[in-house]
Amino acid sequence: MKILVPVKRVVDYNVKVRVKPDQTGVDLANVKMSMNPFCEIAVEEAIRLKEKGVAEEIIVVSIGPAQAQETIRTALAMGADRGILIQTDDAVEPLAVAKLLKAVVDEENPEIVLLGKQAIDGDNNQTGQMLAALLDWPQGTFASEIELADGKAKVTREIDGGLQTLSLTLPAVVTTDLRLNEPRYASLPNIMKAKRKPIDTKAPADYGVDTAPRLTVVKVAEPPKREAGIKVESVAELVDKLKNEAGVI
Ligand code: AMP
Repeated sequence: MKILVPVKRVVDYNVKVRVKPDQTGVDLANVKMSMNPFCEIAVEEAIRLKEKGVAEEIIVVSIGPAQAQETIRTALAMGADRGILIQTDDAVEPLAVAKLLKAVVDEENPEIVLLGKQAIDGDNNQTGQMLAALLDWPQGTFASEIELADGKAKVTREIDGGLQTLSLTLPAVVTTDLRLNEPRYASLPNIMKAKRKPIDTKAPADYGVDTAPRLTVVKVAEPPKREAGIKVESVAELVDKLKNEAGVI
């Protein structure tokens, strides 16, 4: 079984993002970039499925600038087998990403595409769902447990007030939630080994996909600054402020 894992290069989750002064987006100059955390969880899960003998090959694919190759190398150092970089300097929206991933799926015929539930830069939470629709495959989103057996994927999902378990007939699209696993760190020997693993470089045009944006970002703004707190003298004063100033009780 082949598993395809799309991985996105995003601003590192520890970085406090700065909005550009003209409010057109986030300033990426000299900012640390890393693999999207939910994609790391997807890579880890694919590796665990390979270690269990359920999967034979893990292919990672990233759509982005030349530097997205580093993100692919990180996944290869964790244990993926080979990579595909679909190189573009343009911003690629979830629909275009999903169309490109569909083209890769048509070429590679994986039985499962394991994506992050969301990329922490755009917070779109759309790509997996759109890909499943384009492929006409079943989807299990926000997986906190995945079991593959007998041509089915049993996916446990965290939903409001409990857990839902779905049985999907493979091939299927699954997106990962935070509690699925804890990704491993790549060991030094594996980082060295990853340098020799193959990465194929392509362009969106190779797949005949039009990646022109369909959306216009009107404005990106910082959240309002938090005002400094104050100390109250008594419980009565606290209750009064909560009631009459904050209006929360
Ligand atoms: P999103 O729908 O943008 O929140 O992203 C959800 C998931 O789709 C990510 O965790 C990735 O697995 C995948 N994805 C989104 N954009 C890209 C990209 N440019 N390259 C590779 N995978 C992507």
